[in-house]
Amino acid sequence: MIDCHCHLEQKEYDKDRKQIIEQCKRELRALITCCAHPDNIDLTLKIAKDYPNFVFAIIGLHPEYIKDINEKNIKDTIEAIKLNRDKIVAIGEIGLDFFWIKEKEWQEKQKELFRKFIKLAKELNIPLVIHSRNASEETIKILEEEEMKNKEVLMHLFQNRKLLKKVIDNGWLISIGPGIKKSKDLRKIARDAPINKILLETDSPWFAQEGQKRGTPLNVKIAAQKIAEIKKITIEEIEKQTDLNAIDFFNLKIK
Ligand SMILES: [Zn+2]
Repeated sequence: MIDCHCHLEQKEYDKDRKQIIEQCKRELRALITCCAHPDNIDLTLKIAKDYPNFVFAIIGLHPEYIKDINEKNIKDTIEAIKLNRDKIVAIGEIGLDFFWIKEKEWQEKQKELFRKFIKLAKELNIPLVIHSRNASEETIKILEEEEMKNKEVLMHLFQNRKLLKKVIDNGWLISIGPGIKKSKDLRKIARDAPINKILLETDSPWFAQEGQKRGTPLNVKIAAQKIAEIKKITIEEIEKQTDLNAIDFFNLKIK
């Protein structure tokens, strides 16, 4: 099984990162760790380097940080992506977050930054991993305007049931995490999305389950189990197909 979206660089793992990844290595097939802030680029790349063919890195700039970052941060992130093009498997997570950022002017800044990274992805011919919260319509509109239809786009934790058809019609993929246990909308999304369009993720350390202090990539199994139940197919079938989807989308070099 592949966790296509976690944050291994987060401080929650500082004390036992090695043990966690070693355990994942025994139980999972690959992890894709997502760097969302320029301060974390070096650590993210180091983790991927330490676990070749198992941990893969992606780099982006999370829209939630729009108020904290400056021009230099943006420039540094773009430089790091270009410089490490062959060490990363996508740009992300990038996109729009109108849940945390409510002011119009800051939302406009998010859009500007989003377009910048889409252009970069096209220039480098690398997939995009999208964060979109309370902003699905605007996110899709921008992706369409930037001519990303039928290009490599993954909507991470996509939650908008009404727009699922549009996402699928545009040739994009979605990733589903353990949040599916609690969300009716997500269960309907899992039911309606074709299995060849679904990847598994955890967004850990977030989405800790009952009794856990933090989430880990092993929680990917919870998402798989739930999707298997909903689609009435075996968890092995879910694993097989979502692995294929992830390997194909990110072009993963797994041994
Ligand atoms: Zn994330």
